Amino acid sequence: MIKDNYGQLKKEIGDAVTLIAVTKYHSIDETLEAYDAGVRHFGENRVEGFLEKREALPEDAEVHFIGTLQSRKVKDIAGHLNYLHSLDRESVAKKIEQYSENAVKCFVQVNVSGEASKHGLSPEEVPGFLEAMESYSKVTVIGLMTMAPHTEDESEISAVFERLAALRDSLRTGNHGNIQVEELSMGMSNDYGIAIRHGASYVRIGSKLMGSR
Ligand SMILES: *Cc1c(COP(=O)(O)O)cnc(C)c1O
Repeated sequence: MIKDNYGQLKKEIGDAVTLIAVTKYHSIDETLEAYDAGVRHFGENRVEGFLEKREALPEDAEVHFIGTLQSRKVKDIAGHLNYLHSLDRESVAKKIEQYSENAVKCFVQVNVSGEASKHGLSPEEVPGFLEAMESYSKVTVIGLMTMAPHTEDESEISAVFERLAALRDSLRTGNHGNIQVEELSMGMSNDYGIAIRHGASYVRIGSKLMGSR
């Protein structure tokens, strides 16, 4: 089942876009089933689930933390973290600097839609935040992440992804050192097609790959 889903998704998405399997609602067995099908990138949004899946997965699997991370919990996962998709506070960068041995690839989370319920910086706050990140050698900013609003309105979703891509375009001219704003983490089960049309390079897919919970 997961194998069929993965084959279908790979065919659609191609090799240029990295597919992250979001396993937050699924068991270790199902996560390993995805690994056996060929998935090598895994996403979790809670510390416990992250550590549990990391432990179970072979070493060549890369693990992404995609949820809000409290700064006091950074030390629990810092040694295992390949990618962080939710960087939006300097306190988290400070803890990464303190506890991580290797540089962590980070996406700055941007709240493009401006919904109060969503985490992330406003687009206007991002340039100043990137400047602050220059002091953290263990933080490698590789791009921007956003979540689209829950809506059936494709044009509204499109507009959000388009704005993130435009923000990336405006910021990449300033790339230097540990600040490399190139990648776009956007798109989930319901909107990855739209996200890819707007230049997503990482998509985070849960239910469409792993099955609904
Ligand atoms: C759960 C989650 C996803 C995957 O959601 P699906 O709709 O199941 O694909 C992607 N990104 C984040 C940040 C999530 O929390």
